[in-house]
Amino acid sequence: MLKIDSHTHILPKKMPNWSEKFGYGDFIYLQHHKRGFAKMMRGNQFFREIEENCWNADLRIDEYETHHTKVQVVCTIPVMFSYWAKPMDTLSLSKYLNDHLARLVEKYPKNYVGLGTLPMQDTELAIQELTRCKKIGLHGIQIGSNINDENLNEERFFPIFEACEKLSMAVMVHPWNMMGEKNMTRYWLPWLVGMPAETARAVCSMIFGGVFERLPKLRVMFAHAGGSFLFTLGRIRHGFECRPDLVAIDNPVDPEKYLGQFWVDSITHDLPMLEYVISKVGSKRVTLGSDYPFPLGDLQIGKFIEESGLPKKTKEDIFVNATLEWLQLPKKRFQ
Ligand SMILES: [Zn+2]
Repeated sequence: MLKIDSHTHILPKKMPNWSEKFGYGDFIYLQHHKRGFAKMMRGNQFFREIEENCWNADLRIDEYETHHTKVQVVCTIPVMFSYWAKPMDTLSLSKYLNDHLARLVEKYPKNYVGLGTLPMQDTELAIQELTRCKKIGLHGIQIGSNINDENLNEERFFPIFEACEKLSMAVMVHPWNMMGEKNMTRYWLPWLVGMPAETARAVCSMIFGGVFERLPKLRVMFAHAGGSFLFTLGRIRHGFECRPDLVAIDNPVDPEKYLGQFWVDSITHDLPMLEYVISKVGSKRVTLGSDYPFPLGDLQIGKFIEESGLPKKTKEDIFVNATLEWLQLPKKRFQ
C-alpha cells in the first residue's frame, strides 16, 4: 500500500546567517559542527541539535523505505517562520526556504511534496508569496497556530485564507510560539501541554471566527490530531450552547458542523485515541503524520496503525486517500 506522510520537516543544509545579513534579530542558523550533525542556533543561543536526516533528501528516502513509506510532505520547522521580523526580511527568508522545497520536489517528484512558508505578518506580501509558491510547484503552505500572538480569526488573515481557497492551496496549521511558554519551562511543558492547547486555539479561532463557514472549500489540516480540540469538544460545544453571548458572537453555527470539513493528522501515539479521532472526523479526514525527524514524533511512521485491527479501508484512507484529497493530488503521480 502506498503511504504518504503528511507531516514532516526539512531544512536546507546551508542557509545564510540571516541575523548578519539583515543586521538584527535572533534568526535561526545552522552550525555544522561535526559530520552528520548541526547545531540550530537562535542568534548566539543554542536551540537544538539536529541530524543529517533533517536536510539530506536521499538519506531521508532511505530511512522512509525502512518504514514502507514512499512519500513525504515536507515543510520547514516552525521556528523558521520568523513572523516577528520585518516583513520584507521574512519574505526573503521564506523565498529561500520555498525555493529549496521547489528544487527538492522537482528532483524527486515521486517522493516529496512541498508546503511553503509565508510572511503572515503582512497580508499583501503573504498573498504575493503564496501565489509564487503555487507557480513554483508547491501544493500548500504551513502556518503557525497564532501569528505573533494574534489568532487566526483576525480579519487581516482572512484574505490569505481566501487566496488559498481560490488558488487551491492546502493549509497546514502547526503549533508554535506556545501560550504560557515562559511560565512552564520545566518538564518540556511547552511541547507537552502548550502545543496541543495551541492547536485547539487555532481550530476554535477558525471555527468561531467563521473562516470555515465563509470558505467552505478551504482545505486545512491541523497537526497532532488537532491538538486538544477533539478531546475537549464536548466542553467546547457545551460552552457554545450555554454561553452563546460569549462564544457564538461571530458565527452562530454549532462547531460540530465543521467536523469532516478540515483534516487532522494521525499523531496520537495511542490507538484508542486515534479511533476516537476517526469516529469524530471520519477516516477520510485523518492523514498519516509523523513529525519526522523529531523525537516527539511517530518515527515509525504509522506502524501502530499498520499493526492495528483497523479495517483495511480505514488504513488506506489514513495512509493515502486523506492526504491526496487534502492536497488535491492524483495517486498516479507517485506510482
Ligand atoms: Zn511538526
